[in-house]
Amino acid sequence: MKLYRIKKSNIDNKGRGLYATKNIKEGTKIINYVGKLITKKQTEESDKYDNDKPIYLFTINKRYDLDGDFSWNTAGLINHSCNNNCDYDGKGFKIWVKAIKDIKKGEEFTCDYGFGFEYDSYKQFPCKCKSKNCCGYIIRAESRWRLNKKFAMSNKKKLINNSH
Ligand SMILES: [Zn+2]
Repeated sequence: MKLYRIKKSNIDNKGRGLYATKNIKEGTKIINYVGKLITKKQTEESDKYDNDKPIYLFTINKRYDLDGDFSWNTAGLINHSCNNNCDYDGKGFKIWVKAIKDIKKGEEFTCDYGFGFEYDSYKQFPCKCKSKNCCGYIIRAESRWRLNKKFAMSNKKKLINNSH
């Protein structure tokens, strides 16, 4: 049985989201984040990765990024929340979404898109997650969000802070 089902989102009222089909324990792998491996050179050269569009790109290593912007990447439907219950994790060329809290059946899965504040266009991406700590925008740093050491570390810090 799949841990998720696709439903109209409570956060993104124009879009869909993924919802828990049963109670899920912290640390559970929910779904693989699938896409196409592209080289850094392709990332730099393609119009697809301009700053003015939301992008679903992960840094895999020095050479490759993973582009998850495809309709068959179901994990791409997961919405951003300022109080997310899931996060991205990965190893080698694989990326997946895992629960960072216990999640109840029927809850929408959410991730932290990890967009930074420096990028001017963040106002294009208002956040409607309705969390107490919502800052009002899905903040993004640059044209991509990245799964790298720094990103992992800052998430780790966030987890520690949340548990206090
Ligand atoms: Zn929010």
